[in-house]
Amino acid sequence: MLEAYHNNNLPSRNTSESDPDLRSQIKSRWANVSSEKWNDWHWQLANRIRTFAELQALVCLTPDEELGIQRATERFRMEITPYFARLIDPDNSACPIRRQVIPSAAELVVTPSEQVDPLAEKKHTPVPAIIHRYPDRVLFFPTLHCASYCRFCTRSRIVGHIEETVPFDQLEPAFEYLRAHREIRDVVISGGDPLTIGDNKLEFLISKLRSIEHLEILRIHTRVPIFLPQRITAELTNMLKKYHPFYMSIHVNHPSEITFEAADACARLADAGIPLGGQTVLLKGINDDVLTMKKLMQELLKIRIRPYYLNHCDLVAGTSHMRANVATGIAIIENLRGHTSGYAVPTFVIDTPEGGGKIPIGPEYLLSNENGRIRLRNYRNEIYEYVDEEAT
Ligand SMILES: *Cc1c(COP(=O)(O)O)cnc(C)c1O
Repeated sequence: MLEAYHNNNLPSRNTSESDPDLRSQIKSRWANVSSEKWNDWHWQLANRIRTFAELQALVCLTPDEELGIQRATERFRMEITPYFARLIDPDNSACPIRRQVIPSAAELVVTPSEQVDPLAEKKHTPVPAIIHRYPDRVLFFPTLHCASYCRFCTRSRIVGHIEETVPFDQLEPAFEYLRAHREIRDVVISGGDPLTIGDNKLEFLISKLRSIEHLEILRIHTRVPIFLPQRITAELTNMLKKYHPFYMSIHVNHPSEITFEAADACARLADAGIPLGGQTVLLKGINDDVLTMKKLMQELLKIRIRPYYLNHCDLVAGTSHMRANVATGIAIIENLRGHTSGYAVPTFVIDTPEGGGKIPIGPEYLLSNENGRIRLRNYRNEIYEYVDEEAT
């Protein structure tokens, strides 16, 4: 069913122009791999696609992609799990899966407002592996590895630069910081992707955080259920559920990312009692239209992910070809609110340059507020008056 959605919604392929065997090639590339190996997340990570030659054998690359792979990967690593690569349409360069993980030459273009560290995260890093921007919560990134690398990564200045990962035995200042700052009650474990860390090391980190009494909630922000659903094993969920209240935000950008495998992985997480939030980045030509976004939000609810944020694409160097307009994001929210389940409506946010944090933006429903009378419009653009303060 989900597979069918993927196929139906892609622009039709002109098979006469491209290699007719490519589609079957990408499906047959791993045909001889046992299901035991295929379903082993270590195998998936070890067999990621990393080179031009490997990708060229699977996908009918455009000259733009060829240049992108050769040049842009010097700055930001390319790696794609075999599982995710199989979702790529090898004959369609507009494939929404493909554009998220295969570099384009457009990444070499840096516009005047783009920056390497657009959210000024460095400025808010008091100790290695911690970003402390808000009063009561921090971002903790114990790894810079991801299962696959999103071409629009906000943290591409360090993510994928494996050699810069703070070694495990040097995380003590981070724990020390969390212990000393009693105002912190919420830790976002991010990265990189924390679920690329093995169970033992991950449990070491989480139990260490749980031993700090003033930390009320812990959460992992991840894309692993989408890039590497095999990682969500019973061992992992049994471990995580010992540390409740434990939350998770899962990054999903397109309905065709929601395969049976990803749905299964999310079911295991939800069954472990972990509330799942959805994070989506608004991406030009990928999900910046009402139909795709509404479908995505509704599909997320079906796998028990409650859409949390729709993030505007940050002003990261080399991402202008992926960034939609803010007005498009607002129009999408306007076409969700009231038109579908309120649960399916995320908060649209811009993470502000220079580290101002996330700011919610959306359609305006409050038209005026004068003399105790409020004028409002509903989702159908009908105007209503509400008496806020009775005249005395
Ligand atoms: C997004 C973010 C958080 C978490 O914000 P919430 O709105 O609580 O989800 C925390 N720290 C940093 C630095 C962030 O960018």
